[in-house]
Amino acid sequence: MIIAKTIKEVRENVKAWRAEGLKVGLVPTMGYLHEGHQSLIRRAVKENDRVVVSIFVNPLQFGENEDLDTYPRDFARDSKICASEGVSMVFHPSGHEMYNKGFCTFVDMTGLTETLCGKSRPGHFRGVCTVVSKLFNIVNPDRAYFGWKDAQQVAVIKRMVMDLNIDIEIVACETVRESDGLARSSRNVYLSSNERKASTILQEALKVAEKKIASGVRSSHEIKEAMVETISSVKEVKLDYAEIVDLKTLQPVSTIDGPTLVAAAIFIGGTRLIDNYIYGI
Ligand code: AMP
Repeated sequence: MIIAKTIKEVRENVKAWRAEGLKVGLVPTMGYLHEGHQSLIRRAVKENDRVVVSIFVNPLQFGENEDLDTYPRDFARDSKICASEGVSMVFHPSGHEMYNKGFCTFVDMTGLTETLCGKSRPGHFRGVCTVVSKLFNIVNPDRAYFGWKDAQQVAVIKRMVMDLNIDIEIVACETVRESDGLARSSRNVYLSSNERKASTILQEALKVAEKKIASGVRSSHEIKEAMVETISSVKEVKLDYAEIVDLKTLQPVSTIDGPTLVAAAIFIGGTRLIDNYIYGI
């Protein structure tokens, strides 16, 4: 497995693969890999001849008071996991390699990025769109893999490749969870044992929504109320948002009929957790 630190190395290797007619998959990550990342990597390895995993904690997508400095990192462990999953190349650039002196070009999006997580994390999706565009230009993959765990990110990236005519297939993969339902996340390590127990309320609230929809309820208002009530039953937890939106446009819907994203975010202590339930696909 190649460990590339520079853009030049990535380009040279991918160019050689492409000259052989091989298909290339990309899995962008911020590292500290877990089963969720591994499910994306496994699918990419299955569907492509060569897979590149990028490991880069992107400063541009963190707000001023967020966890950029404390975000968990373990490159030695990550590269072992990648090697064992059959990854061809890990791209692990420095901040300087990605954002050289004088960097001043950004990919910005309106509409889809101002709701849900974008509301509480202004500038987050500008950082995501910019780094993902750069990774797409550096790696030039045929396919790129993203998790439904970050459903807003999936919608934003799909819109971006459509709007900017980027010829890359975006593959969205199911959320991988712990046995009690908590979505796997690199940030779960921040939770104390009490907070970890309390965190399951997020999945419970989404299950309440799922059950209501399955029983025929279509009013977003009624479902949201039930979710908010569930979440507010745990005193350690503070609700950030519980929203019901169109899966593609991310605009709120009052009645559920097409593909719909039921999304929620909570704070437990200093940790922010997100999860969602997707209806209709
Ligand atoms: P991150 O390293 O958190 O930026 O995540 C990298 C990619 O892995 C993103 O496309 C995430 O949506 C995806 N991912 C993170 N957690 C999970 C999970 N529990 N299940 C599936 N995909 C995930």
